[in-house]
This record gives sequence, C-alpha cells and structure tokens, in this order.
Amino acid sequence: QTKPNDLDPFWMPFTANRQFKQQPRMFVEAEGVHYTTADGRKVLDGTSGLWCCNAGHRRKPIIEAVQKQVEKLDFAPTFQMGHPLSFEFASRLTQMVEGFSQVFFTNSGSESVDTALKIALAYQRAIGQGTRTRLIGRERGYHGVGFGGISVGGIVANRKTFGPMLNGVDHLPHTHDLAKNAYTRGEPEHGLNLADELERIVALHDASTIAAVIVEPVAGSTGVLIPPKGYLKRLREICDKHGILLIFDEVITGFGRLGAPFATDYFGVKPDLFTTAKGITNAVVPMGAVFCRDGIYDAFMNAPDNTIELFHGYTYSGHPLACAAGLATIDLYKDEGLFERAAELAPYWEDGLHSLKGGNHVIDIRNIGMVGAIELAGIPGKPTARAFDAFLKAYDKGLLIRTTGDIIALSPPLIVEKSHIDFIVDTVGDVLKTVH
Ligand code: PMP
Repeated sequence: QTKPNDLDPFWMPFTANRQFKQQPRMFVEAEGVHYTTADGRKVLDGTSGLWCCNAGHRRKPIIEAVQKQVEKLDFAPTFQMGHPLSFEFASRLTQMVEGFSQVFFTNSGSESVDTALKIALAYQRAIGQGTRTRLIGRERGYHGVGFGGISVGGIVANRKTFGPMLNGVDHLPHTHDLAKNAYTRGEPEHGLNLADELERIVALHDASTIAAVIVEPVAGSTGVLIPPKGYLKRLREICDKHGILLIFDEVITGFGRLGAPFATDYFGVKPDLFTTAKGITNAVVPMGAVFCRDGIYDAFMNAPDNTIELFHGYTYSGHPLACAAGLATIDLYKDEGLFERAAELAPYWEDGLHSLKGGNHVIDIRNIGMVGAIELAGIPGKPTARAFDAFLKAYDKGLLIRTTGDIIALSPPLIVEKSHIDFIVDTVGDVLKTVH
C-alpha cells in the first residue's frame, strides 16, 4: 500500500494547503454541467460533484430560495422550538415516498447512517426487543466515516486504524461476481444465493440478538456494485421472517440517480429506514434525512415503560437554509422532471458506456440508471495507479471523473444532454488509449 500523498485524491481534504501549492487543480466556478478551473478551463462534471449535484450546478431557484431565507431567518433551534420550513420540508419529503411518514434531519450522509443505526436499536428496545443489539453490514459497503458507519461499512482499510469498532457487527458477502457478471447491463442474473448468507449469519447468533441489516441498494463509492435480481427482495423476506430491521443507505441512490425518486421505488422493496443526503439539497447547503417507515416513530411514543428515549439530534438538524435549499431542490426535480429524464436517458447512457468494451485494460462495464463504472485491470502492487492516471488525463481533456481503486465511476448531473454523454464516452475512450 502506498503512503497517502498529495497526489492521492482521497487524502486531499487533510492536505489542502500543500495541495494548493503542488497541485493547482481547483474549481472556482460552476454552471449547469460544467466547472471552471482556476486556469479558466471548462470541465464537464461527470460525477455531479461527489454524486450530489443531481440538478447540476448553481441552479437559480435553489440559490434564490437560500438567499431569501438567509435574509429572513438565519437559524432557529429545532429542539423544543421549530421553524416553518422544517415542518414543510419534512412533510414534502414524506409525500415523495409512500409508507414513510417521518423523517429525521441530519447534515450529511455519515450522520444519516449513525442516526438510522441508533433509531433501529432504540426501536427494537421500544418494542420490547432489547436483546437485539447486533448489526449486519456488507463487504464493500460504504456508509460514511462515523464510528457506526465504519463499523458496519465493509471497507477494512477505513476502520483498521481506529480500533475497537462497534460490538457485534457482521458483514454479508458483497454481491459482485466479476467472473459471472462482467459487462452486465442493469441488474445481474446471478448471485441470488448470496442474500441467503443472511440466514447463515442469523443462525450463528440467534435472531433474537440481531437489530438491523444495512446495505446500499447499489454500492456506489466502492465501484458501482449492482445487486443481482431479487437480492434486495430476498433480504427483505429474511429480515421479516426474523424481526430484523432493514436499512437502505440511499445517500447516493436517493433523489433520482436511478431514474426513480429512490432505490426503494426502483427495486420495489421497502426497507424500514432509509438514509439520504447529497441530492436532498443538490449539495447547495449540507443536509441529510433518515426516512422512517410508518410506525417506527409511534413505537417510541407508545413505548410501554416510558424509558425508551432516542437521545439524538444535531445543532443543525433542520437548518433553515438547508430546508430552503431542499424545498427548492425537490421543486426543481419535479418541475424539470429530472427523475423521469434520468430514466429516459439511461438506455443511451448504457449504450455509450458499453461501447467502451474492448478499451485498453477494461475488464468490466456496469451501469444502472444514470450511474456507471468502468473497471480497469490494476497494475499488480499499485492499486489505484491506472485509474488515477485516467483521472488526470480526463481532467486535462476537460472531464471530471471519479476513481475508486481501479474503477472509474461516473454519475453525471441528471440535466445532461446526449451531447454531454457523447463527450463523456468519447473522452473516456480517448483516455483509455493512453492510460498506462
Ligand atoms: N453512505 C453512502 C452510501 C455514501 O455514498 C456516502 C458518501 N459518499 C456516505 C454514506 C457518507 O456521506 P457524507 O460524506 O455526506 O458523510
């Protein structure tokens, strides 16, 4: 493993000042689907920022809503108090998906994950299932950087430095089977049996000790891993059978990325809780929300012994500026029909990506909705080197891509035109010709 350095895209937040001197890759403006760099070049945003600017950049209705709000009420506590937009936004969000009548506001995906895990544990207590304290995640799952998220997350490198993690966590195997499913379009056919691994874990510990299972419906940050057909439904069945809550982490899949409002709609499987962030405000003001299925909140209110409390919440939960941005964002998604647009563009996107089959080092191409990945054969002993070379070359040619390991991940804003998709595909194709 190479030591993190200024070239490592994952290390940049910590080395911002050094990076400034040595790697002057900076965005200073953005508009629509483009960034402008410090040296005045336009770069097409192939990643929606960090999978978050689903409606593109610097959208007027969102900016105006935030400006109006900051002139009126900059902040109000939502503990013991409230402000109108927090109630309005909560109500509008719950209208977006049937069967989820409460949301809990957070400020990021990581906070949404920790919040969902805590709600799950407290709910089990509230219904008299206090022995259920174990949590189950999945290999190659990414759930942010809080201690809950790295414990249930399936990336060993993200947690090994910080030892001891949450007690009592198991991980399902990931579902990515390159040998069987390379170049699959949409959901692969194989791998259904892997959902049954949940039965194996349940048998190891006894169902009465397990509180919840958390999975990303489509694993994003670890390389766009799409579940096999029927996988999520099977997890739901097994959870139901054993009284285990099912949590979807929809931080990436939420707000239209798959061409449906949420992955729960796309796959037709209802979790008990699902996390969101990123696209909820189009990233203009940081925010997240945990959606809770009907009955979860009531269980706290009706808990028999009155001792079950969910002591949880953030200073900025339901921040007025975030709620203003969020309301304008979901209006914009609706007014411009962006979720439907994503569904319409998805086949074109799919064909474009798959035309790169046969490119240098390409060993797999995957896609679902408006997200895709191109997996490259790594250089032995130098994980990430090849994809990072592609990242730099694409940037020079005016395209922002995201890389994770040796995988190029793509998730353009849902306002892209076909000509932008052509540009992404052509540029990646060009880059692959020279990538070392
Ligand atoms: N969950 C998932 C599925 C994510 O993709 C991410 C971020 N990429 C997070 C949680 C964490 O979100 P944040 O970085 O906003 O804390």
